[in-house]
Amino acid sequence: VDEFGLIAKYFSPLTKGYAGAHNLTDDAAFITPVAGKVLTVTTDTLVEGVHFLPHTAPDLVARKALRVNLSDLASKGAKPFAVMLNSVFPRDFGSDWIGRFAAGLSQDLDAFDCCLIGGDTVASVGPLTIGITAFGWSDPACCPHRSGAKAQDDIWVSGTIGDGGLGLLAAQGKLPDPGGALQSRYDLPEPRIALGQAIAPWVSAAMDISDGLLQDLGHIGKASGLGAEVFVSLIPLSASYGHSGYGGLAALTMGDDYELLFTAPADHADQLLRLAQTANVDITRIGRMMVPMGIICRDQDGQDVTPLRRGWQHFS
Ligand SMILES: [Mg+2]
Repeated sequence: VDEFGLIAKYFSPLTKGYAGAHNLTDDAAFITPVAGKVLTVTTDTLVEGVHFLPHTAPDLVARKALRVNLSDLASKGAKPFAVMLNSVFPRDFGSDWIGRFAAGLSQDLDAFDCCLIGGDTVASVGPLTIGITAFGWSDPACCPHRSGAKAQDDIWVSGTIGDGGLGLLAAQGKLPDPGGALQSRYDLPEPRIALGQAIAPWVSAAMDISDGLLQDLGHIGKASGLGAEVFVSLIPLSASYGHSGYGGLAALTMGDDYELLFTAPADHADQLLRLAQTANVDITRIGRMMVPMGIICRDQDGQDVTPLRRGWQHFS
């Protein structure tokens, strides 16, 4: 099957009738603005051997690539509606592999009420590489940035921290994972879309955690011109994480959480907890923003236990 045959067979159906996608037969897609909304756009690329293990099932590759992008939109309070897909498939991948990839993508596009509106498909000798660009609509008054945190704001996270990082170790056979709970957090992160939209009017800054909580909190601190204090004993950990023998401090530097990290004035706490309950996601206060720059982690006795390495970096 050639490029155009592949697109017609496997990817055109994923437009799910979106008129501006023209069934993936045109040079560009057309997005009609929605009155009173901001178009919010993000892109993330996954490379085999860097973001997922070699020989990962094709449907899981597609679903993770979509979900990490939707997680970014969620952190900005956006409701996703469309994506573009840039795929670099190794030359020896047959149409069976690509068909299973498209089926996985279709499943999650349905699950998150999105469609495919365009992209590019090439064959290469390099590793499998999947780039997705995701589009969402936001309320213009509720687009949280990294830069809006204020001194004394509470720092919150959604869900539990560290499971994705341990999931990678489990997938590599380095950690027992009975039932596969940890690996499923690594393979299929859950973008917090409903929560992100609900809390957007009430937060001062927000992002999703992809490269380690401490490192990503450092981004909020830097952008906001502030430091932060994090209390390790408050970090929410899952039962599976607890059984692993790793402590809360280790969870702060592991990647692949795809939970929301946000700051808010202390008097918004009750409202945030109510909204999180409605969205059916736990949220936990883990610290506060402070005037002195830098991130400090404290144990139960108030001792400084800040680790030297904060998270994952591509160029180090
Ligand atoms: Mg992000």
